[in-house]
Amino acid sequence: MRSVFHALPPAGVGPARQLRSLHFGAAANGRKVYIQASLHADEVPAMLLAQHLRTKLEALDAAGLIDGEIVLVPMANPIGLAQDLQGSLFGRFDLSTGINFNRQFKHLTQSLIPLVEPLLGQDEAANTALIRQACRDLLDAWHPQTETEALKKLLQSLAQDADIVLDLHCDNEAVMHLYTGTPLAEACGPLARLLGVQALLVCKVSGDDPFDETLSRIWWELAEHFEGRYPVAHACLAATVELRGEVQVEHGLAQQDSQALLDFLRLRGHIDGPVPELPAALCEPTVLEAVEPISAPHGGLLVFLKAPGETVAAGEAIAELIDPLSDHSTLLRASVAGRLFARVARRYASRGMRVAKIAGTVALRSGKLLSM
Ligand SMILES: [Zn+2]
Repeated sequence: MRSVFHALPPAGVGPARQLRSLHFGAAANGRKVYIQASLHADEVPAMLLAQHLRTKLEALDAAGLIDGEIVLVPMANPIGLAQDLQGSLFGRFDLSTGINFNRQFKHLTQSLIPLVEPLLGQDEAANTALIRQACRDLLDAWHPQTETEALKKLLQSLAQDADIVLDLHCDNEAVMHLYTGTPLAEACGPLARLLGVQALLVCKVSGDDPFDETLSRIWWELAEHFEGRYPVAHACLAATVELRGEVQVEHGLAQQDSQALLDFLRLRGHIDGPVPELPAALCEPTVLEAVEPISAPHGGLLVFLKAPGETVAAGEAIAELIDPLSDHSTLLRASVAGRLFARVARRYASRGMRVAKIAGTVALRSGKLLSM
């Protein structure tokens, strides 16, 4: 294992924060997997999973069983980890700008098209290599203005030439679920089955350029743009893995999840070894447009009637909202049938707050599809 420290430009006067990337195997043959933990810095289950992965990958590396390179960033957001506000870790948004740490990565498609068009040919693998080089050049030319932008450039640069990118997150209170691009839904199926995901959420453009989508989207966009002229592979299978709820930081779960991720890498040929039989799928892919966010129509105490993982019928109540000033209470109902896969951890809701998410089957929404 090779450990590399990357210094970020300090936001103010004083020492620089550091990011560490761990490199297993060898970068010789161009095959690469990239895994990062806790881009939202307060999503701690991901960092524990990364520790379990590190131990297992060290052993696999020592045994010579890794094909190509596996890069692991065990703590992806030192800026967010330092945002400790009077006892609460505030790791989702950059406090200096209010921008979500998992938004505004560099979407490259429009810049790539004129760069690669004169170079593309009929050899798909050669096209992949030259598109990756053009991505590298564009990212090298990105001059970040802030420490957080420098972090985003660094993470995107570490991942941009990987065949598989797994961005490890969690929700407030949730069952295991996964986000990926619609064109990658089938390829992600085995990962979903190995992890036991209960919602597989797919979308082509969810809005605001989250990490996984920014890395994978260029490939299907270029493939569509050059269709009939040049072959372009879907060369990056990227997904955001939501490791249940934020306090589910347990060795037993991390052990189970690390095994599932490594089994998926065996299945894809990045690690040598027997491939396990896939468990049955627990869900079908859900388009992100069919996820119903349930919002609070007024402030009040939030009493959930449904837990993560439970299925709900259309019209069924999932929570009660009680206004202690008026004693008025409202039942919050799902308008569609589906599975409640995530809910907030707090129990006082303010007006308009999204309190739960239901994976349904009917497309209800358009526009920006992710929460803030
Ligand atoms: Zn997250």
